[in-house]
Amino acid sequence: MWSTMQDFPLTIASIMRHGTGVFGDTQVATWTGDGTRRITYGELGERVARLAGALRALGVDGDQRVATFMWNNAEHLEAYLAVPSMGAVLHTLNIRLFPDQLAYIADHAEDRVVIVDGSLVPLLAPVLPRMKTVRDVVVVGAADTAPLADAGKELHSYEELLAASQPAFDWPEIDERSAAAMCYTSGTTGNPKGVVYSHRSAYLHSMTACTANAMGLGAQDRVLPVVPMFHANAWGLPYAALMAGASLIMPDRFLQAEPLVRIIETERPTVAGAVPTIWNDVLRYARDNGSDLGSLRLVPCGGSAVPESLMRGYDEIGVRIVQAWGMTETSPLATVAHPPVTADGEESWRYRVTQGRVLAGLDVRIVGDGDVVLPNDGTSVGEVEIRGPWVTGAYHRDEDPARFHDGWLRTGDVGTLSPDGYLVLTDRAKDVIKSGGEWISSVELENQLMAHPDVVEAAVVGVPDDRWQERPLASVVVRDGATVGAEQLREFLAGRVPRWQLPERWTFIPEIPKTSVGKFDKKVLRRRFADGELD
Ligand code: ADP
Repeated sequence: MWSTMQDFPLTIASIMRHGTGVFGDTQVATWTGDGTRRITYGELGERVARLAGALRALGVDGDQRVATFMWNNAEHLEAYLAVPSMGAVLHTLNIRLFPDQLAYIADHAEDRVVIVDGSLVPLLAPVLPRMKTVRDVVVVGAADTAPLADAGKELHSYEELLAASQPAFDWPEIDERSAAAMCYTSGTTGNPKGVVYSHRSAYLHSMTACTANAMGLGAQDRVLPVVPMFHANAWGLPYAALMAGASLIMPDRFLQAEPLVRIIETERPTVAGAVPTIWNDVLRYARDNGSDLGSLRLVPCGGSAVPESLMRGYDEIGVRIVQAWGMTETSPLATVAHPPVTADGEESWRYRVTQGRVLAGLDVRIVGDGDVVLPNDGTSVGEVEIRGPWVTGAYHRDEDPARFHDGWLRTGDVGTLSPDGYLVLTDRAKDVIKSGGEWISSVELENQLMAHPDVVEAAVVGVPDDRWQERPLASVVVRDGATVGAEQLREFLAGRVPRWQLPERWTFIPEIPKTSVGKFDKKVLRRRFADGELD
């Protein structure tokens, strides 16, 4: 028997209508360097309609791709709403990728238009001539567009296009399963891979983000997405904020600790999401300057393991970091580390250091050698597999059956799952260190090292070893002026991890190399120290 319920599509247009209508007075504020420019969601709604009209006038039709090359700001949010709602597909380009990768991605996605922030014109210029399918470039804000002139594309001013367009648009009916947005993973091996989100997946993901077991967003919240809108949709924060009626505070290009602290002190966000490296910098700055981060009620943090020392550091200044795990392929929210209500005080840390508890709607399992499904006993270690309505089931125009297993996504992450649904990651499959047949968790060693007061960052990789096949090598960044050396750090670790796991090889470097999304780039470290010799 079928239900009697209406078959009403779950779409980004519906999120837009709700946010810009019911919450028309709510504001989005974009940081300008010394203040903010603000518009209400109601005004935003009109500009969104104008943008859709302008793109249609440029010839954007059907499911054509409209790329963005933008910071987190109000205009990027306008594209987030207009492009999917008009039936086209939003493709957020990662501004930090190498030109070769950008050209590959834009071509692979067949981007038809690029919307570029004026300040990013110099970055786009060298790669634009190679974006073969792009016909129009829309420049946001003031910019010298001369570097784009010879690329053979039509250039337009964003504001002029909007001014020439109408504040209303005849939004089409959209199938909830059709493509709304796409994002390429940074590609740990081979070319980057495209994940295509549907309207339905974005809608369900946004609803989930608003639940208390995730971020509990509501109209009382002021949300600061520091995580870029080109990185896994800024963890879904923009759409979720529109749905919840929460206001948005956009940092634009001001992503260093000093301006971020100023934004927090001035705009008083209640929720702010960023990767651990950013929160690390912000904490040091805030401590040195006695800054007030007290408006934050929740700081979702993920993208890589969140060191316990970082979370404790924030606890000391009254700010709660909550670890979350996910990936571009999972939209990204999959687990969030809220402890159970029964666990308070020190007991809560058992849960807070995990990657988090599985969110409703998703199934997670641990799979061992030979594709054997292992028990959720909190100790059996294997690859994490996941399925659910906002988990990708394929890659765009790219056969990669090895990443899928009976309808589950193989995440490439390795860890355990407890009976009550808490996931603990010990490694990414490709980062696992196998010493004399035993696994050493690089993540655990890094976490313990970063708990040392003089250690700013630490990354551990496996290097070849004649006797043990592989041994851990620790690359450490120490605090300015600190003199701590390998011997002291080995002693420090000795009480915290089994002795046989203690690294013999150490290197002290000024900075850990990072990927385009701010994670430790272990590929680079492995390459640099491939022979186990230190330079
Ligand atoms: P990539 O890093 O491959 O470009 P993503 O940004 O989608 O792509 O990263 C997803 C990966 O980031 C996960 O598979 C996992 O390895 C890592 N990750 C995300 N959150 C966490 C976390 N809280 N702890 C440890 N690793 C995490």
